[in-house]
Amino acid sequence: MPTYIVLLGPPGVGKGTQANILADTASIPHISSGDLFRENIAEKTDLGMLAQAYINKGELVPDDLTISMIRSRLHQPDCKNGALLDGFPRTIVQAHALEKLLGEFNGKVDYVPYINAPEPILVERLSGRWTCKENGHIYHEKNNPPKRSGICDEDGSELYQREDDKSETVVNRIAVYFKQTAPLIDYYRKQGLLTEVDGAQSIEKVTASLMAIIEKKG
Ligand code: ADP
Ligand code: ADP
Repeated sequence: MPTYIVLLGPPGVGKGTQANILADTASIPHISSGDLFRENIAEKTDLGMLAQAYINKGELVPDDLTISMIRSRLHQPDCKNGALLDGFPRTIVQAHALEKLLGEFNGKVDYVPYINAPEPILVERLSGRWTCKENGHIYHEKNNPPKRSGICDEDGSELYQREDDKSETVVNRIAVYFKQTAPLIDYYRKQGLLTEVDGAQSIEKVTASLMAIIEKKG
């Protein structure tokens, strides 16, 4: 049976950082909806062109576009053992669609670690985030700097600051999270799938908390 993990939490809490670490140790791929959109934007696909306007404003991309993008990603062969989902679902409509979609693989959502931290920490993390151009590896100018300034440790590619990590957009993204994504906390809690993790801890401690959740239930 495949295993599906949904990483839930506000923008900047550390979902992508943790998913990169966990995907190295687990035998399931890290699927980031944000990375998939950014790849489409870089390749100037129709989806990328449509998504860009929403992303730059810090709004959510419409559900139908997002769901069909994730659906085709989950159908790729490397997902046969499951997936670690980062940034999807972000609305109740997407959560329903995910259940239907995982049914196609005889799977279901198995764990929902909910990583949380106070808003000032999120703002500080987003405004100091540097992202790798090639593969989306994540750094922070103070908390998790690369060995060489501006260069990714993993693949040597250039680091850049995301357009939507600028301050006005950051504030809107956090507001959008509270309105549209936070209802998923109760949704998954009611299903007995949610486990809370303190995202204000160090990267290493958050990883240890996540590993404990996955090992305990797995
Ligand atoms: P998300 O995917 O939830 O938006 P990221 O993983 O991209 O979050 O992390 C946001 C920023 O915070 C990045 O710059 C990252 O290096 C940094 N960061 C992630 N986890 C921690 C942590 N536990 N402590 C300090 N900084 C962190
Ligand atoms: P972060 O981890 O910092 O919250 P992401 O990289 O996950 O940011 O997402 C960046 C942007 O991509 C979001 O602000 C939104 O515009 C769009 N996006 C990503 N995932 C989704 C989704 N599941 N539904 C709608 N829009 C999404």
